[in-house]
Amino acid sequence: MVIEGECKGAELDKRTYLPGITIKSKCPKCGEPYEKDMSDDYLSYPRVGKPYELTAYCRNDDCGHEWPLGSVVVNLTLTVVEATAPGA
Ligand SMILES: [Zn+2]
Repeated sequence: MVIEGECKGAELDKRTYLPGITIKSKCPKCGEPYEKDMSDDYLSYPRVGKPYELTAYCRNDDCGHEWPLGSVVVNLTLTVVEATAPGA
């Protein structure tokens, strides 16, 4: 089997969790560390290869600042699994 080409825009789910990925930043206003654990948080309908804009909310209640984190892209890879069954 050979896999060719690359996915140009599979539609992912309404709640696309990415366990194992953490996005970190810092509030530009008060300096409070910011962390988005993608096993708890999700991207809503991200599209493969398309930039997805993220916004952060400061965890410091006295600040409450909201700022753009920037954009991320979901990359999907499809990999051949070596056959283990006879004749496969
Ligand atoms: Zn802040």
